[in-house]
Formats: sequence, structure tokens, C-alpha cells
Amino acid sequence: MSAADLELYEFRPRSALVTQDHTPQRPRFPVVDAHNHLGSVGSGGWADRPLAELLVSMDEAGIQAIIDLDGGWGEEILNQHLDHFKAGAPDRFYHFGGVDWSKWPELGNSFAEWAATRLRAQVRLGAQGLKVWKGLGLQVRDHHGQLVAVDDPRLDLLWQTAAELQVPVLIHVADPVAFFDPLDRYNERWEELHAEPDWHVPHPPYPAFLTILEALARLVLRHPHTTFIGAHVGCYAENLAWVSRLLDQAPNLYVDIAARIGELGRQPYAARRFFLQYADRILFGTDMGVDLAWYRIYYRFLETDDEYFNYDVNEIPGQGRWRIYGLYLPADVLEKVYRLNALKLFGK
Ligand SMILES: [Zn+2]
Repeated sequence: MSAADLELYEFRPRSALVTQDHTPQRPRFPVVDAHNHLGSVGSGGWADRPLAELLVSMDEAGIQAIIDLDGGWGEEILNQHLDHFKAGAPDRFYHFGGVDWSKWPELGNSFAEWAATRLRAQVRLGAQGLKVWKGLGLQVRDHHGQLVAVDDPRLDLLWQTAAELQVPVLIHVADPVAFFDPLDRYNERWEELHAEPDWHVPHPPYPAFLTILEALARLVLRHPHTTFIGAHVGCYAENLAWVSRLLDQAPNLYVDIAARIGELGRQPYAARRFFLQYADRILFGTDMGVDLAWYRIYYRFLETDDEYFNYDVNEIPGQGRWRIYGLYLPADVLEKVYRLNALKLFGK
């Protein structure tokens, strides 16, 4: 290979900047990871290993507690998670239940009532929240074969039930904006979509990104007594002004930052203002398993003023070839984001 025919994917520029690396070995405050997945029994993950090993890894990373979103739809998986994790260390694990959308065609108009009953049963067993996966608004279909909108009024009973049971709803809709765009030379996530073609949900045939997000906004505003946590920075980390407007209108909305430091850290001025302004509404989360190297990147991003560093544990970051900048958050903001906001929501 000569320099003249270097392919773009082979390009590995090494920054010539002389910058500092202040990566914290441990977080400044104990951390609640409010968006993570502990996997299910039989998947070779933490559910199949002794709990003590997981606790050692959490202690090493300074993780006080984990919100596990893998509680499944019914009793069986939830019980496995409660038995394996929560029973052994009740203060360190919170497990979320879910909705089995595949039952809608069979149950028809009684679906919401059934889903609300399932949620009641899950909470009775020990679930402490409801996870809504991104299929809603994108793939979930009703008994007429119609796509179900995120704010479909037929689901109101489910959101009301969450409010009544006082459990938060962690909701992820849509995906990065670029996943809805054509897969062409202008797509900023071309490499990621090339590696994961199933993640591409082009509009059309899929709904437009903003159609889904506007439905999320209507949903959150229509249910002021239900606490929603918008996953991945309110599902729109690319547009903090949009998320800010919704946070202003909806005091019942929180956001987590899971898997979005690549977005936040390349708009560090806007991101820092966002954290300072909404310090009471932002939850720490990673979505990256229980992994010390990943946690340290998050701590570096939130705590330091380090410049132009990789936001991924891999040399070529998965989401795109950019670099991020630290937010050097003040101690009071940091503690809220790291743990106090989560304890307010889950500590009951
Ligand atoms: Zn997740």
C-alpha cells in the first residue's frame, strides 16, 4: 500500500496534540448505573456467574447500584433476576419489567388491560420500573396489522398503571437520527450501519425520526403523573435544544446518558450547559455491561477537562470517527447525576 492509494477505512490518524489524560481510576462519588443490562440465564453473562464476581467488578468501578433492564416480560425471567441478583444484594440491584408486544395481535382490544395486569404482577414480585424497548413506534403492530404509535391512546391504561404503582417508565424510542437517513456518503454513521445493517431503519418505509419523537413528547405531556426516563438523552442526543424544550414542559421527564457520550462529548459547550441546567433530571447510565474500561471513559468525560479523546474502548469508535471533550462538571452536579437523582427515583 502506498500513501497514494490509502483507503479511508485504513486511515488511522494519530493526534499530534499534546494533551493531558486525567482519567479517574474511581468516580468522585459512588455511582448508580441507571441503564444497563445484566443479560439472561443461559446467555453466558452475569446471570450465569457467581454474584460475588459481579460485586467485585462493581466495587472496583465504584458502582453502588445497577438498574437492570433485562427483567423480561413475564414472571419467569424476572424471578431469575430477582433470585440471582437482588436477593443476594438488595440495595445494589433494581430490575425492570417489560411489555410483550407480540401478544397484541392475539389479544386485540384487551391488550392494554392485559399489559397493565402484567405490570402489576411484575411489580408485586419486585420489579421497580418498566422498560419500553424501541420497537414501539417502529415495529410493534396491533391486531389490524397497523403500526402502533408511541402515543397511541389505547395504551393510556398502561402508563396510568405505572403512575399508580409509582414505578418509572424507562422508554427508548427511535434510534440515532442517522439510522433513519439513506446509507450514503453523507451518513455520519455509515461505518456503524455497514457493520450492523439491521440497525438501519430508513424512512420510508419506517416512520420518520421526528414523527416518532413528536409522539414521545405528546405521550410524556399527556401523562404528567407518570415518571418517564427518556433513554439515551431523551432519545435525541443530537439535538439538546429539542430535549431541553421537552424537559422544560414536562417535569415528569428524566433522561439517562447511556451510550451517548459520543454525541454529548462532541458538542461540549451545549452539553455542559445542558448538565448544569438539568442537573436534577439527568441519570448516569452506560448500556455497556459492567466494564471497568468503559466506566472510566464515562468518568473522564463527566469529571475532567481532558480534550479530544476517544469515547470508546476500541481504537476505532463504534459510533463514528470523532473525538470528545470532558465536561468538568462541578461536584454538586456530578453527585446528582452519579447517584442522587437515581436514588430519588429508585431508592424508595
Ligand atoms: Zn439499553
